[in-house]
Amino acid sequence: MIELIVKTIKKISTIVSFLVSVSVLCACTNFAHADKQNVSFSYKVLDQHKGESLDKVLKSSDLTNIQQRLVADMPASKSARTDRKIYMLFENSYLRAIRVVRGESTAEYALVKYHGQWTWVDEKGQIRSSGGFFARYPLRFLRVSSRFNPRRRHPVSGRVRPHTGMDLKARYGTPIYAPSGGVVKFSGRQRGYGITLEIDHKNGYVTKYAHLSRIIKGATKGRYVKRGQLIAKVGSSGVATGPHLHYEVIVNGVKRNPATVRLPGPPKGAASTKEAQEAADHYLPILRKLSQS
Ligand SMILES: [Zn+2]
Repeated sequence: MIELIVKTIKKISTIVSFLVSVSVLCACTNFAHADKQNVSFSYKVLDQHKGESLDKVLKSSDLTNIQQRLVADMPASKSARTDRKIYMLFENSYLRAIRVVRGESTAEYALVKYHGQWTWVDEKGQIRSSGGFFARYPLRFLRVSSRFNPRRRHPVSGRVRPHTGMDLKARYGTPIYAPSGGVVKFSGRQRGYGITLEIDHKNGYVTKYAHLSRIIKGATKGRYVKRGQLIAKVGSSGVATGPHLHYEVIVNGVKRNPATVRLPGPPKGAASTKEAQEAADHYLPILRKLSQS
């Protein structure tokens, strides 16, 4: 098996020496003997059972936070309708490609840096990141405590008091990440909302974050924040019964349901770049071989 892997790798790369270590089912990989000139490929497998959420699987894996976020951003669905296996290729300790196998169907993606962000591309080099350029939620793990509801009635007065965002339950201090790049529009206090942040994403989209415990230094008014950048932490400032994030997505001035609002795709010209094609051609065959062996 190892011979086969080495042969494959040699065929598709010009780097002279390789160390190939294979780890199965999240066994720890050891890169201690890989020096700078050596490129070591390894893979890990995650088993996702029918009905199980990807978040749950990731949480119980040994992947780093960054790796978990990258995997969560893959273009395949987050919940498994049937059991599936997620194979991940690592070049030294860096995640490079992913292969999702469910029965007879397989989906494969490689990671490339595009506009400064790690982005998934398919075997043709086409950009496929799911949340991609605009992640659905700014938290790593989701527990919705109150949905968007324009007709919600106040529990005491019975009057219609619309809930114009989504409440995401999270522990005090949970990191909040910018779902897309943008300029900080507001950073400070807003009455019942407490410590509040607003980001203008430039394409008519504004996101709002309320009841924060604090805003990160790099996210003051006028500053540009990148997609995936840590911007604030969950809290219970303002009028809040407990720590949670009140999250709003405002499109051309209208508050939309964050769970269902159409999110903007990648900027124009994002289709197949040479680099993306090269990454797909390079990494996907290696992962294919490793995961089939
Ligand atoms: Zn709310």
